[in-house]
Amino acid sequence: MSDRQQDLGPGKDLPLDSHLHTDLSPDSDVPIDVYAALAVERGIAELAITDHVDFDSRDPAYDYATFADRERSVRDAAARWAPRGVEIRFGVELTFNRAWEADLRAHLGRHHYDFVIGSVHDWPDSPYIPGRMGTWATGRPLGEVLQPYLAEVVAAAGSGLFDTIGHLDVVRRYLDPIFSSSEIFNAVELFEPALRAIVDSGTALEVNTSGYRRGGGEAYPGPPLVTRYRELGGERVTAGSDAHRKGQFAWALEAGYRVLAEAGFAELTFRRGGDRVVIELPERCAAAGPSVVSPNTGRIGSL
Ligand SMILES: [Zn+2]
Ligand SMILES: [Zn+2]
Repeated sequence: MSDRQQDLGPGKDLPLDSHLHTDLSPDSDVPIDVYAALAVERGIAELAITDHVDFDSRDPAYDYATFADRERSVRDAAARWAPRGVEIRFGVELTFNRAWEADLRAHLGRHHYDFVIGSVHDWPDSPYIPGRMGTWATGRPLGEVLQPYLAEVVAAAGSGLFDTIGHLDVVRRYLDPIFSSSEIFNAVELFEPALRAIVDSGTALEVNTSGYRRGGGEAYPGPPLVTRYRELGGERVTAGSDAHRKGQFAWALEAGYRVLAEAGFAELTFRRGGDRVVIELPERCAAAGPSVVSPNTGRIGSL
């Protein structure tokens, strides 16, 4: 198996997977100990468990698991697994929208996490809902179609609430097949206001390797956006597999690390509660070739 194919398989010997969902998220069925055991087996030194919390009562992770239950699950697992060499951090993935920013701020005022991802997903009244999307987007220019999503990303970064912005261009998933990923990457300037907001706020940019599992075959965000973030002065980056199933644990994480290395980053940023840390990328990622090949399209990933 070539290095590139290995990059797109199960991650091994890596310092951190900072985006994981357990069965305390409504869309995952993985007990926390399953991830921990895989981490021991594969040499993934540190995990952030980032179960979903939603703030719109129509969304699936609204009141799905209590803060106390989520915290107990992670802290107990951390104590069980630390002696075996895996550090487990208590994180969260909060769905951001300006409509519930005040609730979200209040939540973070009351509850303390080691690490907080802020993500924009589709939302109940958004144009990106399946069934509504095709009619709305067809015939509109790309900039107009991206705008409602990116306006929320700009606000999420500007809120200053998050350690990192999750899967920045996951809107590509909603737009497929009306707009292809390559069309979107050719219009990288449309993402600049969002990238600048992330840079200016000091929030990190996440490279989320779940994109390699889906049509489109690139990380979220794709390499051209990561490169532009760097060019705009971005310094902070994170990487996670966003696993919701056992087989997705740390999957393609090495490819995500490599996207970061190729854009010029040498380290991840992370927070362990009160401690902000940087974690160096493994030397083999920094020394990697210039590109990765997408499993779905066979295209060269780094443009
Ligand atoms: Zn997400
Ligand atoms: Zn997630």
